[in-house]
This record gives sequence, C-alpha cells and structure tokens, in this order.
Amino acid sequence: MKLKVVSKILDANERIAQENRKIFDDKKIFVINLMSSPGAGKTSLLEQTIKGLKDFAKIGVIEGDITGTDDAIRIDALNVPVVQINTGGGCHLDASMIQETLMELPIDDINLLFIENVGNLVCPAEFYLGEDIKAMVLSITEGHDKPLKYPMMFQQSKAVVINKIDLAPYLDVDMEKIRRDILSLNPTVAKFEISCKTGQGINQWTEWIKTNCLCRKH
Ligand code: MG
Ligand code: ZN
Repeated sequence: MKLKVVSKILDANERIAQENRKIFDDKKIFVINLMSSPGAGKTSLLEQTIKGLKDFAKIGVIEGDITGTDDAIRIDALNVPVVQINTGGGCHLDASMIQETLMELPIDDINLLFIENVGNLVCPAEFYLGEDIKAMVLSITEGHDKPLKYPMMFQQSKAVVINKIDLAPYLDVDMEKIRRDILSLNPTVAKFEISCKTGQGINQWTEWIKTNCLCRKH
C-alpha cells in the first residue's frame, strides 16, 4: 500500500516536471539543479558563479530551504533575481514548488536558472524538476566515504564540484579515493576541485558552464 502511494507521488511530480521543462524550452532557459548535503557550499558556489558569469548570462536563482531566507539574501546582494522557497520541513524540492515559484521570477529576462535544492545528499536526486542538468557539490570535510555511501546523486550529476580543497592539509581525507570513486560511479562526469574561499578552480567551473550550458540553446 505504501509503495503504491509513493509511486503516485512520483508520477504526479514527473508530469509537472515535464510542464516545467516546456516552460524552460519556450523561454530558452538553461536550468541547473544544484544539490549537496547541508553546508557543502552550494550558496558560496553560486555567489562565485554569479560573479564569474554575470557578463555572459542572465542569471536567476531559486533557493530551496526548509526555513529562512539567509541564502536568498546573499544572492539578492549580487543583484540577481532570486526567490526563496521554504518547504516547511520537506527535505527536497519537487516540481510543483518550482512551477509555483516561476511566476515570481522575471523569466523573460533569464537564460540561466540555478535551483539550489534543500541540503540533503539523498532524495533531491530522486525528484526531477524539469531541469537540464543536475550538478552537485561535495565538501571534502564530509569525508572520502560519501560517494560510495550516497551513490545516486553522484550518478545523476553531470558535474561534481569538490569544494573546500584549501582545507585538505588539515584533514585526514583521501583525495585520490574521492576522485576514483566518483569516476567509478559516473565515468563521464565533469569534475572540479575548487575552493570558494580562495577562488581556486572557480574559473574552470564557470568556463565549463559557458561551454556546456550557455551555448546550447542558441
Ligand atoms: Mg545554501
Ligand atoms: Zn526529501
């Protein structure tokens, strides 16, 4: 009985996600669903990405959090249109939340939309929102065991951004294992090693977006 209910929820989500997909196609908006566990650095990466791409893309952001507006305030400070979704306890975003939120964004003036999902390494990967690609952030402070323990998000992401590499000298983290395990789960993934704090590696990430995300719709 429980399984039936779950599959119905997923079907409804898929249908609404396809409606979102059509809106994104009509408006020529490339959409990146950005996922990670809490505190890995999604918002910090977005801040750096916006600074790096503001001359190349018309960026918009949807922020997903259980509660609060901290992340939306940070994005708003960069003069980028942003809407905050509060899930009120929900541990992931779903397609209907995105559909309702789109009306609050100036979608005729956006060609690159970032959706920052709720911090959670599990179920955000299970809910299609209508995005073009999923991307994820892994902080090395989370430990080198995370890719193999939470494989789905790593398998579904077109890009994995490994953040906080400036902290590597202070941690007992096996960087080779992280690299090896990510590639074993997802051999074609684009992988970046960055520090949002120092700016190291950000340029490779923004260049990848320019090449793979911005040009595709034109
Ligand atoms: Mg955040
Ligand atoms: Zn969830």
